[in-house]
Amino acid sequence: MNLNKLMLQVEAKHPNEKEYLQAVREVLSTIEDVYNEHPEFEKAKIAERLVEPDRIFTFKVVWTDDRGEVQTNLGYRIQFNNIIGPYKGGLRFHPSVNPSILKFLGFEQIFKNALTTLPMGGAKGGSDFDPKGKSDSEVMRFCQAFMMELWRYIGPDTDVPAGDIGVGGREIGYLYGMYRKLARENTGVLTGKNLEFGGSLIRPEATGFGGLYFTKQMLETAGMDIKGKTIAISGFGNVAWGAALKATEMGAKVVTISGPDGYIYDENGIEGEKIDYMLELRATCNDIVSPYAEKFGAKFIAGKKPWEVKADIALPCATQNELNENDAKLLIANGVKCVAEISNMGCTPEAIEQFINNKIMYGPGKAVNAGGVATSGLEMTQNAMHISWTAEEVDAKLQQIMNDIHTACVKYGKQPDGYINYMKGANVAGFLKVAKAMLAQGIV
Ligand code: GLU
Repeated sequence: MNLNKLMLQVEAKHPNEKEYLQAVREVLSTIEDVYNEHPEFEKAKIAERLVEPDRIFTFKVVWTDDRGEVQTNLGYRIQFNNIIGPYKGGLRFHPSVNPSILKFLGFEQIFKNALTTLPMGGAKGGSDFDPKGKSDSEVMRFCQAFMMELWRYIGPDTDVPAGDIGVGGREIGYLYGMYRKLARENTGVLTGKNLEFGGSLIRPEATGFGGLYFTKQMLETAGMDIKGKTIAISGFGNVAWGAALKATEMGAKVVTISGPDGYIYDENGIEGEKIDYMLELRATCNDIVSPYAEKFGAKFIAGKKPWEVKADIALPCATQNELNENDAKLLIANGVKCVAEISNMGCTPEAIEQFINNKIMYGPGKAVNAGGVATSGLEMTQNAMHISWTAEEVDAKLQQIMNDIHTACVKYGKQPDGYINYMKGANVAGFLKVAKAMLAQGIV
């Protein structure tokens, strides 16, 4: 099969879903060689079957705000593929949420979860609910209303949601409380829970930590040390926090974080209590990063992204397509050595092309940020066994998983000239696992 032809069909079928098309295009364009080496894939129409989700649930979420006004939001759960394990993936609460964004995230999640080495399928969900400026009780009422609709479609061995943008420990707690009441069971149906009711140590840090374990491996493979390197980070949420924590622990210097209002440049390095402060800032629910500048005497550059600073390493930790072609050119001109996406699909295709053409190390989100969902998988295991592991045990497993993902990317991404195309490596490794599972299980 000419995968280009399939891409044209998908484009014709879903013309308005640009993020979803972008994610599918990236995967199909990198797996072509291996696809054609396996005529059995073509015979079973693996690619055609993989690009469409198994099913999409769309529901209305009605709740009452603090003024007593009735609010209506949209809720979704996209169960994309469960060939290697229960559907697994986060929930995103953000006004930009729509089927295209959730389909791109769900599609990516299939390959990411396959890479983790754990038995998890791909899913995603969320709502256009905007947590910005909402009170605790508003968030609680929204989460309860959301779960009243969702609960009948999920289960610890069916579909296990977790957090994503706008959904952290607080939201997972409220969602879990309602699920437990409706389903009358205490199971690992959600991950990212608090420690008191089945959460895993290291889960809050895991996406950022895993991202840094992967980045360190990329650098070491190229004969470089992360120690002493300057890092530009975007975002200031849970992922950016974990990344900054591990980066400074590894001896690197983090000079930026960012929000929708602009970015912080702290030439003294973002470390110690400044990293703790990120959590405080996030908890205000105002979604602005500028108060950091006043508190610590750093620079705040309004309305700009951090990719204009001089840095050895760039770590997008905010959202999709947050680093474009121009940003890539600026980073390259400033001598960037490694770009590792800890956000999902953080770079535009044009930006990725810049990095690859200039032989800059580039790590795609589905490999670099897989530590988050991998640790969710470890939370599921602990829940199923009714035990809890120590932080050291979870961290050791996370490091092993990130190592294995890195090895898989190198295996399938190493080019004849020695350059490692991590994007190709991650796509091919993830795809092969899913495709083989689909073949083995027949046409279902
Ligand atoms: N939302 C995270 C991701 O993009 C985590 C998902 C999970 O833990 O299930 O992978």
